[in-house]
Amino acid sequence: NLYNMVQDLKGNIRVYCRIRPIFNDGSVVDFIGQDGSLVISDPSKPQREGRKTFKFNKVFGPTSTQGEVFADIQPLIRSVMDGYNVCIFAYGQTGSGKTHTMSGPLNGSTKDLGINYLALSDLFQLSSMRKDITDYDIRVQMVEIYNEQEEFGFLTMYKLEIRSCTADGGLSLPDATMHSVKSTADVVKLMKLGDENRVVSSTALNNRSSRSHSVLTVHVSGKDISGSTLRSCLHLVDLAGSERVDKSEVTGERLKEAQYINKSLSCLGDVITTLAQKNSHIPYRNSKLTLLLQDSLGGHAKTLMFAHVNPEVDSFGETVSTLKFAQRVS
Ligand code: ADP
Ligand code: MG
Repeated sequence: NLYNMVQDLKGNIRVYCRIRPIFNDGSVVDFIGQDGSLVISDPSKPQREGRKTFKFNKVFGPTSTQGEVFADIQPLIRSVMDGYNVCIFAYGQTGSGKTHTMSGPLNGSTKDLGINYLALSDLFQLSSMRKDITDYDIRVQMVEIYNEQEEFGFLTMYKLEIRSCTADGGLSLPDATMHSVKSTADVVKLMKLGDENRVVSSTALNNRSSRSHSVLTVHVSGKDISGSTLRSCLHLVDLAGSERVDKSEVTGERLKEAQYINKSLSCLGDVITTLAQKNSHIPYRNSKLTLLLQDSLGGHAKTLMFAHVNPEVDSFGETVSTLKFAQRVS
């Protein structure tokens, strides 16, 4: 279709920035352009010296709604039903809005549901709209990657399986099963359970959720009336917080965690950068995360990174490093 043709011309990697509302402090954001430009200023410097300009495919400001964000990415998500593999990442420091974008508020309200829910319900809708032409099977799995180990722990009641999208894919984890979902209600139930379990483990382990990558994978397979088949995946990834930790302040487990997070986020950056440069050697094997997503990064797969920003003055340093990271991969 036209959308996919346009995307193929534009390249398969897009970077969006999303700016959270401010809750206390003043904002470092000076200007958000319709063309994807973003100007911020260093609160410790006189205006003209402290200005920095960045350019992305798009910037969503603090008043953007979940619906607006979803409407923009809906065609990308729908392309999964045509056989494209898609990865959507939420990057940014803890508190910048990653989970808000992906899951929505975790207070059990059905208002402001995030991409995970909206995407799945849209895919179900599309599947029923097309049911006379294509018979789809949609399955989901949730995996947490913590200290370079995959864990299924945060969905303890459901054992979940990683299945590569291609037969010769990099990673297979045989001791788990895939959960079949039939409706949006099933998904909401499943994810609520996942979120609840994640919250439990996060209080138990000192907010571990911000220090693990959470991957929700939607596996789609379809067979149309002519007998041709398709198989694709949508990966929705809420990444670990990208904040740098002060090495003089943390030791032991915390330092180890921080090093794993640094390593996996910089590997992800390297993979996306080398893909954008159309290099032939892509360093997928340098982290569990990129290995897990190998089949859905590169080739005809489509990648979208949301760089999340907490615009408050106190977060300026982290904001600059988030924007630099995102600029590098775009
Ligand atoms: P992260 O997952 O990056 O640590 P959260 O998504 O938990 O950050 O966001 C931190 C807080 O800010 C939460 O209370 C969340 O509800 C709120 N928040 C984040 N983004 C938005 C937004 N766009 N609109 C309203 N509230 C937001
Ligand atoms: Mg979070």
